[in-house]
Amino acid sequence: MAVYAGPVQDLIDELGKLPGVGPKSAQRIAFHLLKLSREDATRLATAITEAKARVSFCRRCFNVCEGEECNICADDEREPHVLCVVEEPRDVVAIEKTREFRGRYHVLQGAISPIEGIGPEQLRVKELVQRLEPEDVTEVILCTNPNIEGEATAMYLARLLKPLGMRVTRIASGLPVGGDLEYADELTLGRALEGRRDVDA
Ligand SMILES: [Zn+2]
Repeated sequence: MAVYAGPVQDLIDELGKLPGVGPKSAQRIAFHLLKLSREDATRLATAITEAKARVSFCRRCFNVCEGEECNICADDEREPHVLCVVEEPRDVVAIEKTREFRGRYHVLQGAISPIEGIGPEQLRVKELVQRLEPEDVTEVILCTNPNIEGEATAMYLARLLKPLGMRVTRIASGLPVGGDLEYADELTLGRALEGRRDVDA
């Protein structure tokens, strides 16, 4: 229901499409933006346009990158046969901070969530399977979040990958259940990675 005139309502509508922003927050943010100086508003708009223009997703692992391949995929020093599967690029950052992992990543760009209508087809699962043979992957570590969606995704992938003959492991429990990887401290996450266990699927 449009309450405000043209451009204001457009702004509210666009903001309301952002994750976690409900109609009330969208209104509050819109009026905050309208109070900004023209310079500040332009800086925000430019940051969005520039990020969209220059940042894309790595063609191999779907992490964010500038160019075709991310720094991690392009790094020959990384162990090429172990893949850590995560939900989002921010999880790559969280795991990199632990300095416990020297392999490469695969970013699913989400997790299985029937409620939100997200199944394996909406995620980068097909691309994951296609990497396994050419990159001679021997272990896949399932590093999805320790919540319902993350566990469901890990279980789905374990069932899919185990028959293909590689080692499939899941990060150890000890992470706060129901939380996101990115909120775990480096030490806890590092230990969870070190204590990973083979998945029975
Ligand atoms: Zn990459």
